[in-house]
Amino acid sequence: MVRWVAEFVRGLESDEIASATSMLLGRAFPRWDQRVLEVSWATLSKTIRSIANVDRTTYSYAFNKTGDAGDAVKIILEQGKIRKQATLFQERLTILEVQRTFETIAESIGVGSKEKKERLLKTLFGCATPLEAKYIVKVLIGEMRTGFSEGLMELAVAQAFKVPLKAVRTASMLTGELGEVAALAKAKGKEGLLKLGFTLFRPIKPMLAQMAASISEALDEHEGLTALEYKLDGARIQIHKLGDKVEIFSRRLTDVTSSFPEIANLVIAEVQAYKAILEGEVIAVGEHGVPMAFQHLMRRFRRTHQIEQFAEEVPVKLYLFDALYVDGQSLVDEPYTERRKKLGAISGNIPLAKQIVAQNVGAGESFLKEAVEAGHEGLMAKKLDSLYTPGIRGKKWFKIKQILEPLDLVIVAAEYGTGRRHGWLSDYHLAARDNETGKLYIIGKTFKGLTDAEIADMTYRLKALTIKEEKYKVLVAPQIVVEVAYNEIQKSPKYVCGMALRFARITRVRDDKRVDEVDTLQKVQQIYESQFEKKSRPLGSG
Ligand code: AMP
Repeated sequence: MVRWVAEFVRGLESDEIASATSMLLGRAFPRWDQRVLEVSWATLSKTIRSIANVDRTTYSYAFNKTGDAGDAVKIILEQGKIRKQATLFQERLTILEVQRTFETIAESIGVGSKEKKERLLKTLFGCATPLEAKYIVKVLIGEMRTGFSEGLMELAVAQAFKVPLKAVRTASMLTGELGEVAALAKAKGKEGLLKLGFTLFRPIKPMLAQMAASISEALDEHEGLTALEYKLDGARIQIHKLGDKVEIFSRRLTDVTSSFPEIANLVIAEVQAYKAILEGEVIAVGEHGVPMAFQHLMRRFRRTHQIEQFAEEVPVKLYLFDALYVDGQSLVDEPYTERRKKLGAISGNIPLAKQIVAQNVGAGESFLKEAVEAGHEGLMAKKLDSLYTPGIRGKKWFKIKQILEPLDLVIVAAEYGTGRRHGWLSDYHLAARDNETGKLYIIGKTFKGLTDAEIADMTYRLKALTIKEEKYKVLVAPQIVVEVAYNEIQKSPKYVCGMALRFARITRVRDDKRVDEVDTLQKVQQIYESQFEKKSRPLGSG
């Protein structure tokens, strides 16, 4: 496989290499990229059925027979009476055209986006051969099932462009995306890769965190060796310093130095290193340094005039939490504990994000409570021996939000699952009751929390309660009450009630509760507001 891929990648045009390499790994975009395709199974299957002119039964049959969406699509397109699309692409589909379509799909958000995505997919599949369609589907789903992993791809890139494997690995870590490394290996060879190291004033993709549901989950994953830090609710910045010159980059790697002149000055005055790349969080603060909600800070960003006036209105405070490079020495391969020590040694009077080394769940939970009481968002859990992995959202860092009170909600609809959960009602729509009208309003959806056996049981129960069958969904009489945990309540236009639960998961089926006992929208609203209670308000807003 490595040899095949190496030959294939070597034969590509320079501008195709990055995309092709990512797509071979099942990624429509570079790994650090925030864009997502968000094409649902429903949309995918609808598009394929319409192109191949087959009904649902034929589609389901092919899917059940192969157990793989890509294979199923190939079979269907081979057999179907394909309606040729009026095509944008005149000749054969190219890698770059596929890439551009993915980008347009990712950019389609909001009203009408579903229809737009369907149109784009129709055009794309309309031009693809069945074999091409098979792999486009796999990239869309993000699951190649070829057995060709990131590690093998590193080998293939090294082979294709005759560069040392180690150089590929390091470059991949620094850029966070093998595709870019492959393109660079072709263009500039080994020298190009080795030069990639740290260049001051060229920002590095930040290391990212996964969400953990609780302190104990983070402690388990880190085998008890974790540091907890306040998770500050502001903007992440990467600071590059060379003597008296400082530049500040946002998380998206744009230069925001001019928005934060006081931070640049502070770094010049305090940091005890000639050269440094440091990371921290800038938060907006109100009276007595109490944090303000995130949106106030946003007023400071992308500001090109009246900076001084806004600096007064929205005072900011910097907390540092990492050091990637200090005076010629890269620290990314040093464990977290060493980096933190080094950071403490050079940070002068700039505070570090408050930290403890967690000994047990109880201590962690009190620290979380303390962070929230002080107006912060929650905690970060960082594995003590973890290295800094640029651009990677791994399990070495977890974010843990404040624990909010669970809600008892009623299931009002359910959708059929896919893959392993094909045929089971496994995605549940959850509703709360309006205290005033007694009506039920959906506030979230989840497919998390139940075991396979519980899902099977739930499917039978819900089928017996079905009021209306839709294509992939059944509407049910509101009878089954479940207890739901979640990490956040957001204002959201997604549901009629204007609020939505994030990271909802069912923690228990409450057969002891009746539908008229479910929690109310008013209570949800109250919890929503409590999320901000500890924040201070901007000056002058009363
Ligand atoms: P996420 O961006 O969703 O991966 O969540 C992590 C984000 O939390 C980082 O990008 C930072 O902007 C922010 N953050 C706040 N406090 C810390 C901290 N102590 N360590 C790391 N990141 C932090």
